[in-house]
Amino acid sequence: MSRLRHRDTPCDEFRRLARRVSLLIAAEAARDLELASVDIDTPLETTRAQRLANRVVAVPVLRAGLGMLDAFLELMPAAQVGYFGLERNEETGVARRYYEKVPRDLGGAVVFLLDPMLATGGSAAHAIEGLRGFGALGVRLLSIVAAPEGVRHLEAEAPDVHVYTAALDRELNDKRYIVPGLGDFGDRLYGT
Ligand code: URA
Repeated sequence: MSRLRHRDTPCDEFRRLARRVSLLIAAEAARDLELASVDIDTPLETTRAQRLANRVVAVPVLRAGLGMLDAFLELMPAAQVGYFGLERNEETGVARRYYEKVPRDLGGAVVFLLDPMLATGGSAAHAIEGLRGFGALGVRLLSIVAAPEGVRHLEAEAPDVHVYTAALDRELNDKRYIVPGLGDFGDRLYGT
């Protein structure tokens, strides 16, 4: 995490590290997924094997969440992918969904929401509400850095959602950035 946080880390290295830590978080978040037994034929005989019991859907929140998507798909290549575009009103901090493209009927799916910075929790709660609108029941939030304020917000607004994060930081500053944090994740990922 130290190189990911460091202000001088160039964006190519930042991308690589974001991908690596995302893979670890995704593996942790997928650890208890339900498995189903299936019969498969090896070249020698038929045997029992295990595969995921449920459909898996990844929903990165644009644009920062895209930095976690490749890693997620490396772990779960058969996952479907949806997208949420959220923007936050800088004055009020209230999130608005300006784009959504999500696979239909999320009822039986396990949905992994990819949002690397859990700050106030307002955007994540808004995205979770949107996913519920598409029928999602089992939602897991994968973030790279979380603020205690955001975790508390989700505990209150979406207590059934499990949050997986690599770092729980100290607090938010008055501009709603996570401190110590790593700055604006999207800017660091795309060099803007
Ligand atoms: N989003 C970011 O990219 N960084 C923060 O610190 C908070 C929200």
